[in-house]
Amino acid sequence: MPELPDLEYLVPRLRGLLEGQTLERMEVFEPVVLRNLLGHDIDNVLPLGFQTVTRHGPFVVLDLGPSSEIQLSIIIHPMLAGRFSTAKRKKSTMLRLHLAQGHLDYDDDKKMGKVYLARPEQRPEIPGFAKQGLDILSSEFTEQRFMAVAQKLRSQVRVFLMDQSRLSAIGNAYADEILFEAGIHPKTRMNSLKEDDLRRLYRALRSVIEGAIEIIRQAQPAMEAKYRQHMKVRNRKDQPCTRCGSKIRRANVLGYDAFFCPVCQPDGGKGFIDWSSLEK
Ligand SMILES: [Zn+2]
Repeated sequence: MPELPDLEYLVPRLRGLLEGQTLERMEVFEPVVLRNLLGHDIDNVLPLGFQTVTRHGPFVVLDLGPSSEIQLSIIIHPMLAGRFSTAKRKKSTMLRLHLAQGHLDYDDDKKMGKVYLARPEQRPEIPGFAKQGLDILSSEFTEQRFMAVAQKLRSQVRVFLMDQSRLSAIGNAYADEILFEAGIHPKTRMNSLKEDDLRRLYRALRSVIEGAIEIIRQAQPAMEAKYRQHMKVRNRKDQPCTRCGSKIRRANVLGYDAFFCPVCQPDGGKGFIDWSSLEK
């Protein structure tokens, strides 16, 4: 669930909850999500105080230690379904951080996310941590950099948007919203997009993500909630397009559901991949 706008809302919430608090103990209910790189049990170094809570691409980074140095990082990659909660333990609760006051749970009903325990120098050992794509919210995300990353690719545009090695923390929901905003069909091949199309895609990336961050901030949903009310095409099959009134369609693309408006995001052209003919 957490995509970039969700994480931008979540991380300050976690910061408010954790900074200044002490981690007393970690209780693991589902070992499959845990990757301990420390070489010893976490209990050997606890209790420790939370120093900072930050986002690194799609990872949530909890740094612990005495104030002068970080001794331990709990680095969480929530993938599709990871959530944080201070509520009661659920079937999907994978582990619990026992704080001096209260607790924080990591829930994941798909068990796809990962929780890494690492010292600072071990971060490069975490898969995908060192090599992240462009972060849309960083100052590096200029039109020039985007054009360089986006050019001459054979992949289809929706796959490109979700490729974490090129762009960081865009998933299914925002990929659909960004393509709707840009007026580009999800199955269009990257190398068939003209320069104007790419510039439109760049602007859509910025405006959709920045707009969503603001909307979620104002709505103040619960930390574990999935806030999607503002979406214009995602999960809106057969509902009227907000721009032209046509029915929103859903297409199954290599196992992923893509939602789009067939009028505002026309297909065709030489870059279009006809999946219906490939699936036969
Ligand atoms: Zn439309």
